[in-house]
Amino acid sequence: MGGTVFLNGEFMPRSRARISPDDRGFLFGDGLYEVTPAYGGRFLALDRHLARLQRGTKELRMAFPQGLEELHRELLRRNDLEDEEMSIVYLQVTRGTAPRTHHFPDPSVPATVYAWARAFERPTREAWEKGFSAVSVVDRRWARADLKTIQLLPQVLAQQDAREGGATDALLVRDGLALEGAHNNVFFVFGDTLATHPASNQILPGITREIVLGLARENGIPVKERPVSLAEAHQAAEIFFTGTTTEVRPTVRLDGRPVGEGTVGPLTRRLQTAFLARVSRECGAAVT
Ligand code: PLP
Repeated sequence: MGGTVFLNGEFMPRSRARISPDDRGFLFGDGLYEVTPAYGGRFLALDRHLARLQRGTKELRMAFPQGLEELHRELLRRNDLEDEEMSIVYLQVTRGTAPRTHHFPDPSVPATVYAWARAFERPTREAWEKGFSAVSVVDRRWARADLKTIQLLPQVLAQQDAREGGATDALLVRDGLALEGAHNNVFFVFGDTLATHPASNQILPGITREIVLGLARENGIPVKERPVSLAEAHQAAEIFFTGTTTEVRPTVRLDGRPVGEGTVGPLTRRLQTAFLARVSRECGAAVT
């Protein structure tokens, strides 16, 4: 992967970017990240992504870097992504480089800020119409899943399990509850009502989740933010995952069994259409 990246105040070719082996991100996973989408070169909900990052830095007692909005725009410009149907900016902030101690560096050191941008290929309409599959996987994350930390090993293992099980998504299950995906949130349809786990320390408060909840309310679709068991999930009429790169993704098979009729359901369809209409409106790009 080439392109121009940003590291600690400078834009440079990716091949020139160097990070110290004593960076606390490398040694401890002591950092946070964000992934923000742009459609036709315009960001969707960049303010919400940066607000989530800011909350994370506060919770972890890290510095919140300045100038991130401009950094995002500049990365699109420098990588010629302003006309791309969809692109993403990845941003990572760590507690910086210092001699290894478990406690915070004393005195404190500057954060490491690393960011890159690239085009993102959305699934074809045919793939979306056919639907996707998921498998349930035990959730092995720590007790602050609401923070978007770079410590992703449980998600890496869950996603690998999904891949080896021939599925697109991993459905994370803890204490019998179907919480979210390895890199996305999950919604279920029971009757005419949508259900998704409430925002808590057990799930990441997804920006796409928030947008979809808003769209459901605007469209008069009843929503319950409540815990859903895996047993219930297996009885859902429809299931879909939401996320920055996931958008609204229909799941037509869970653990090898059909979800509902085994086809993309009507509520999923309505919300996908509403989501793309929102994207088109906010980003001024025709996205279908
Ligand atoms: N849940 C988890 C565990 C995630 O890692 C992500 C995104 O990476 C999401 C949900 C979806 O969040 P968003 O819609 O903000 O991309």
